Amino acid sequence: MPSRKETIKRIEHAIRQHRVDHGKGFRLGDHDPASTGRMGNEHKPEAVQMLAGGVEWLAREQDKLYAQDRRSLLLVFQAMDAAGKDGTIKHVMSGVNPQGVQVVSFKQPSALDLDHDFMWRYWRELPERGRIGIFNRSYYEEVLVVRVHRAILEAQKLPPECMRQKIFEERLADIAHFEDYLTRQGTKVLKFFLNVSREEQKRRFMERLDEPGKNWKFSSSDVRERGYWKDYQAAYEDAIRATATPHAPWYVVPADNKWYLRLVVVAAIVQALEEMDLTYPRVGKVQKQELAKARALLEKEI
Ligand code: ATP
Ligand code: MG
Repeated sequence: MPSRKETIKRIEHAIRQHRVDHGKGFRLGDHDPASTGRMGNEHKPEAVQMLAGGVEWLAREQDKLYAQDRRSLLLVFQAMDAAGKDGTIKHVMSGVNPQGVQVVSFKQPSALDLDHDFMWRYWRELPERGRIGIFNRSYYEEVLVVRVHRAILEAQKLPPECMRQKIFEERLADIAHFEDYLTRQGTKVLKFFLNVSREEQKRRFMERLDEPGKNWKFSSSDVRERGYWKDYQAAYEDAIRATATPHAPWYVVPADNKWYLRLVVVAAIVQALEEMDLTYPRVGKVQKQELAKARALLEKEI
């Protein structure tokens, strides 16, 4: 079995390899969904152990984030169906204090949502200071599913002069600005694209059909969307190109191997929290005196 140090080096390499912080010239075709970086099957047992360690580490960092109550972290998860969004979120967040995390899943918009600008419903769900916010699908759907299906855009009730040819380029610019703004307000934004291959998606759909325990996960609309695979890939590529920056990077994480996917996601989150250099708030002189008084009161009790 490879040494722990060696595995850590390989994980650091993996984060770097899958991180996109300059979108210009980005090509999805350069990213292999089946990749496990420099880690072969011989690394898997160690990687699974490190994942558990990473989850605990994340919990400790989150505790400090919460206590400090200054910054927040927004984790955006985007993927084709069956790429493993739900399982990854469940796994990665398994150790953290539920009070410090807000998970929001974005589905088809409501009538009320459609009566507002496209960012409205996402804006309302941003994490409070001290919290980790998880967007299970996000404002990126506005340049993905909405781009692939023109009818969805038509339903957004925009006035005709706003339905410009370049509407999606404009939306991408708005999203990039929105993320700049959040960064300047103390929210770190990380975006994960769980990159599953078309073949692996088919295998997982078949599994959902074959196994009664997984039948509930199957939806025939997922198979319909699969028909638009190329359009989605092009839309994702454009989105990543327009919005990957050093302060709000994309992680294009290979998703065909779940153990690798989860490890990379946890490692990337831990790294971002580590970079925040979080510490528990220090208690000042006056507060220390208060604490001493409180202690004296408690000690006097019979
Ligand atoms: P799962 O299938 O694992 O439960 P999911 O995220 O795929 O998770 P679904 O209820 O299956 O959830 O699908 C939600 C659907 O809503 C997706 O097809 C998605 O593209 C669509 N959706 C999300 N945001 C928008 C939007 N702004 N406009 C139109 N459709 C959207
Ligand atoms: Mg679905």
